[in-house]
Amino acid sequence: MSTRTPELARSIPRASARTVRPKRRWVDLLNKSIILTTVVVPLLGTLYAMILLWNRLVGWGDVALMLGLYVPISMGVTIGLHRYLTHRGFRTNPIIKATLLILGSMALEGPVITWAANHRKHHALSDRAGDPHSPLDGFFHAHVSWLFNTEPADPSIYARDLVKDRLVVTIHRLFPLWAVLTFLIPFAIGGWQGLLWGGLVRVFLTHHVTWSVNSVCHTFGSRPFRTRDQSRNQWVVGLLALGEGWHNNHHAFPRSAFHGLRWWQFDLSGLTIRLLAVTRLVTEVQWAPALAIQERFRRRSATIDEAA
Ligand SMILES: [Zn+2]
Ligand SMILES: [Zn+2]
Repeated sequence: MSTRTPELARSIPRASARTVRPKRRWVDLLNKSIILTTVVVPLLGTLYAMILLWNRLVGWGDVALMLGLYVPISMGVTIGLHRYLTHRGFRTNPIIKATLLILGSMALEGPVITWAANHRKHHALSDRAGDPHSPLDGFFHAHVSWLFNTEPADPSIYARDLVKDRLVVTIHRLFPLWAVLTFLIPFAIGGWQGLLWGGLVRVFLTHHVTWSVNSVCHTFGSRPFRTRDQSRNQWVVGLLALGEGWHNNHHAFPRSAFHGLRWWQFDLSGLTIRLLAVTRLVTEVQWAPALAIQERFRRRSATIDEAA
């Protein structure tokens, strides 16, 4: 939405950029409505097309194959690439580690070290100059176009520990193999129909859901914690992205393996990590202590009282 060039956006601090271009409330509202429409309507359109084509071009088998691959591969992203590799939210054995990272690679969101380095850079510079995908540089920049117009984060700065890890480096280098497998597996199971629903449609959904964490969850939703960035909790993304939509919680407590901090904040990835911890397949699980959560809530309330 913004007309700022990437060079300009990176050369000036966000605060001054916003002072220079004040937006009237209704323009902001209109912008947000357009954005929401472009994100939600294609998704609703896909669902509607599925209903229209039910029993002719799509059936329960296709949906089962799509979900059967969507859930584990998305968990490869949320648990493997994000909470484990990027934030060290827990420790695990080499078999679980390789499984999670291979599944995450099959989401086709780039090789594992590149993914982690970009995300660490996002946390280091959230919504400030240098953030690879801030919506303050435009919603579509944050959603998808940053992939094409931003240099990948330098692993020698943001992933120094990972480039020394032989297993991680091997999985990173074999990315083309995982990219072939992500289509070959659904094709082997369901032929061309399987390739369509278990491959292409599933990759489309995983991409947009992951990208929504970067775009939607820095634009829409609540901010229970006063973080330095614009991160927000958004329940729809929370559900679709298997817990990643509780993004303000995550920016407040980045190392926590659980992003849902309240009982009603459904976090399928966090619950899966709990299950893996019970079976001792993962250990040293990091969590945001209740006292720290209360303390940050208190600071937030104090700020609101002062402002009132
Ligand atoms: Zn973020
Ligand atoms: Zn993160």
